[in-house]
Amino acid sequence: MAETFKNFIGGEWTDAASGKRFENRNPANRDELVGTHPDSDAGDIERAVAAAAKAFRSWRLVPAPKRAELLYRTGELLAQHKEDLAQLMTREMGKVLAETRGDVQEGIDTAFYAAGEGRRMYGETTNAEMPNKFAMSIRLPIGVCGLITPWNFPMAIPTWKMFPALVCGNAVVLKPASDTPATAARLVGILAEAGFPPGTVNLVTGGGGRVGTPLVEHSSVRLVSFTGSSEVGRAIAATCGQKLKLCSLELGGKNAQIVMDDADLDLAVDGALWGAFGTTGQRCTATSRIILHEAIAATFTERLVARARKLRVGDGLEPGSEVGPLVNEGQRESVHGYVEIGKKEGAKLLMGGKPATGGALDRGWFYEPTVFGGVTPSMCIAQEEIFGPVVSLITVKSFEEAIQVANGTPYGLSSSIYTRDVNRAHVAIRDIEAGITYVNGPTIGAEVHLPFGGVKDTGNGHRESGKQVLDVFSEWKSVYVDYSGRLQKAQIDEVKIQ
Ligand code: NAD
Repeated sequence: MAETFKNFIGGEWTDAASGKRFENRNPANRDELVGTHPDSDAGDIERAVAAAAKAFRSWRLVPAPKRAELLYRTGELLAQHKEDLAQLMTREMGKVLAETRGDVQEGIDTAFYAAGEGRRMYGETTNAEMPNKFAMSIRLPIGVCGLITPWNFPMAIPTWKMFPALVCGNAVVLKPASDTPATAARLVGILAEAGFPPGTVNLVTGGGGRVGTPLVEHSSVRLVSFTGSSEVGRAIAATCGQKLKLCSLELGGKNAQIVMDDADLDLAVDGALWGAFGTTGQRCTATSRIILHEAIAATFTERLVARARKLRVGDGLEPGSEVGPLVNEGQRESVHGYVEIGKKEGAKLLMGGKPATGGALDRGWFYEPTVFGGVTPSMCIAQEEIFGPVVSLITVKSFEEAIQVANGTPYGLSSSIYTRDVNRAHVAIRDIEAGITYVNGPTIGAEVHLPFGGVKDTGNGHRESGKQVLDVFSEWKSVYVDYSGRLQKAQIDEVKIQ
């Protein structure tokens, strides 16, 4: 049954002031309307930011361990609702249930991890250079944070941003992707149930231009944290630069798995299947290129294609499904467009390359797992993010060439190498230009207590998750307490050693 969802502003569930709504349909079955959501605009953002700014005045004064207690409660509630959240997420976004359960689990893990920071969030005490003077640095909240998220991790990504932001004492306005607003609404409802005071957590749904842009531009929003495409990230960074706002960006990837001549090939095939076709290839860390040493290229390719042919494409709610649909029609057109480009560029289509159809599949945006062989590093399909179940195989002659090819794109999010040679593994860890390197594991599978993010066009130097995310959501203040009772001039007064 389709639900009528609302915005959440200042502790109240509310419609867009215009009364407009948009539909959220199941990508595995477009006849199913999951729900309708407020199609908001700048006026709704204005109200949400005002509510957040008001709430921030008292929220920042709540001791961090007490703020954290609400996150522990949030984690417990998420765990209680894990199954129904996962079902809803599969219905609105398409990935298979095992994966949507994992997505909720990531939110639970993030709740408990961020809550722990309530009793840490360490600053530093150090020595002052003048006598009778005390020096320390502390973290302070920033204010109202605008959070803009994509659809591929409808629970995990909003929690990566909201939970650390809240434990640091900020108030937030979340604008989720229009393909996955239902999971976001449920998450915000759980935060309210956990006891977050009105205005600390706000949700406004609607399009990127009508809702995202006014949120980024609003003068009371001090920080924008964005996860999405590099194209939109660049535009947001330009606005934030103009207005001197803080801005953290997590953007696209073109992740490579290297398979060396000494690799355990069955393990490498397992990793490639999961990395390339998990989440139907719609992960920022998805394996989009596989770089094969020439000595094993033919054997690996044969085994990969044989296994990929057996993958079951289907509705993520069906127990046997391994590869769900793409998120929407536009995404399927975009993926197919890249496949056509690959064929024109001269890459060899080894399998797939078209929408998956027949029976119930005709009702959704399914696409066949697709493997291209004979890809060269400069081809468009080896350079641009496809964000679908399409993987390009590139053959190289040496380890050095493999690293060079892996580094030869504008992106730098995740990477992987399969080898039994510990020396090569360490050189790869050092030399691959990426925020994440896996050894003998696929390019996907980040854990929440390690920093997450990438280099080059994948971001602007920030990291989510881990303790590093605190640097995004708090400002440092250095504090000097002079108890000498006289004016002391640093760098000028001479301190006599007796
Ligand atoms: P997208 O950039 O189209 O949209 C992301 C969000 O930005 C959505 O909420 C959208 O409504 C909003 N938006 C769009 N235009 C906007 C504008 N002008 N101003 C403000 N907000 C705007 O990305 P998507 O299609 O939702 O997600 C896929 C992309 O996200 C891929 O490129 C993927 O690699 C990237 N991604 C990156 C990470 C990471 O951590 N590095 C994680 C997941 C996804």
